[in-house]
Amino acid sequence: MTMPSGFELENQYCAPNYHPLPVVLTRGEGVFVWDENGKKYLDMMSAYSAVSHGHANPRLVGALTRQAETLCIVSRAFYSDKLGPFLKRACELTGQEMALPMNTGAEAVETAVKAARKWGYEVKGIESNKAEIIACSGNFHGRTTTIIAFSDEPEYQKNFGPFPAGFKIVEYGNADALEQMITPNTAAFLVEPIQGEGGIVIPPKGYLKACQEICRKHNVLLIADEIQTGLGRTGSLLACEHENVVPDGLILGKALGGGILPVSMFLSRRDVLELLVPGTHGSTFGGNPLSSAVGLEALNMLVEDKLAERSKKMGDYLIAELGKLDSPLIREVRGRGLFIGIEIDSAQGSAREICERLMERGLLSKETHETVVRLAPPLIISREEIDWAVNQIRDVLQETGQVRLAS
Ligand SMILES: *Cc1c(COP(=O)(O)O)cnc(C)c1O
Repeated sequence: MTMPSGFELENQYCAPNYHPLPVVLTRGEGVFVWDENGKKYLDMMSAYSAVSHGHANPRLVGALTRQAETLCIVSRAFYSDKLGPFLKRACELTGQEMALPMNTGAEAVETAVKAARKWGYEVKGIESNKAEIIACSGNFHGRTTTIIAFSDEPEYQKNFGPFPAGFKIVEYGNADALEQMITPNTAAFLVEPIQGEGGIVIPPKGYLKACQEICRKHNVLLIADEIQTGLGRTGSLLACEHENVVPDGLILGKALGGGILPVSMFLSRRDVLELLVPGTHGSTFGGNPLSSAVGLEALNMLVEDKLAERSKKMGDYLIAELGKLDSPLIREVRGRGLFIGIEIDSAQGSAREICERLMERGLLSKETHETVVRLAPPLIISREEIDWAVNQIRDVLQETGQVRLAS
C-alpha cells in the first residue's frame, strides 16, 4: 500500500480556502523547489514574494539557527538585544523614524489603521469616532474582518459581515478623485504603489507623487502598503522610491522574514507611532528575538547583495524577453523589476491552464484574478534561469494556442 500523498491529506484536512496547483513540495534551495517524487521546479512565485532571498538561504538559515539556540521568544514584556538593532536598520533604510513589529502582513495593516485613527483624533483633531481612511479600488491588504471591510472584491466579503465603518474606496490611479474624496475627517490614504493581488496593476506615472502632495495639503497620512512591492521586489528598495516619495507610514512584511518566518512591521513618523502607548496595542510574537535576528539579516543581505539592483536588471531583461513572445494569448506584459504579470486574453486561454502546463514543465507560477500569470521569482534568479523560463512559457503558449485551435 502506498502512503497517502500530501495532496490527499491536505484536501481532506485543510479548509479549502486556496486552490493550489496539484504539486506537493518537500524541499527548496535557492530558486528551486522539489516535489515528493524528486521532480525539480523553478519557483517563479516565491510565496507571493516572501522568498525574495531564495529558499533555505544559508546566511539566513545561519542567523535563524544561531538565534534559535540562543533565545527565541521573550514577548515585549521584556527588552531583547535583537529588536532595537532590527528596527533601527529598518528605519534607516526606509527613511522612517519608528516602527512597530508584528508578524503577518494583515496584522501590520491593522496596526497602520489603528495608528492612523489615533493620530487622526489626537493630533489632527478629528471628532470622536468620525475618522475616515481612504483605500483604493482593486486593493489587497489582507484578510481580517476590518481589512476586508474596505475591499471591493465581492468574494473577499461575502457572508463575512457586518463590517466596521470608516472606510471609503477611491479609484486606483486617479489622484484627482482622491482629492475630491478627502474631508476634514480623513485620517489616512492607504495605497499599494503597484497592486499585486489586483493583478500587477501599475498606476500612471506621477500618481504616487501627486497623492503625496494632496495628502500633505490636507494633512492626511499617506500610508504605503509595500508588503509585496517592498524590499527590492520592483527594482528599488521600496516601490515608492520610483517617484521619490517617502510615505508618512509604511507597511512591510513578506520578504522581511527572509522566506523563513512571518515578520512584518508598520513604520512611521514619531508623532504617529508615539501615540501607541502601553495598553493600546500589542502582539505576543511581534518583534521576538528570532524574527528580529532573521529580519535584520534579511535587510542586511538586501543591501550587501544588491538584491534591488539585481531585481531591476533581471526584471528589465525578463520583461524584454517576454515582450518578444509573439502569441495571440498575450494581451499585455507589464511589471517593474521582478514583479511581472502576463495578462492572458480570456477569449484565448485561461491563466490557470497556463500555470498548470508550466508546472508540468517544471516552472511554478500562480494565476491572479483568472487572467494574469504572475512571475515573481526569488531576486537571486540568474539570466540562464530566466532564459529557460521564457522558453517554457513560449512552448506552453504555443501548445495552449494549438489545443484551442484544434478543439
Ligand atoms: C500579502 C499582502 C498582505 C497580507 O499579508 P499576510 O501576511 O498574508 O497577512 C497585505 N498587503 C499586501 C499588499 C499583500 O501583498
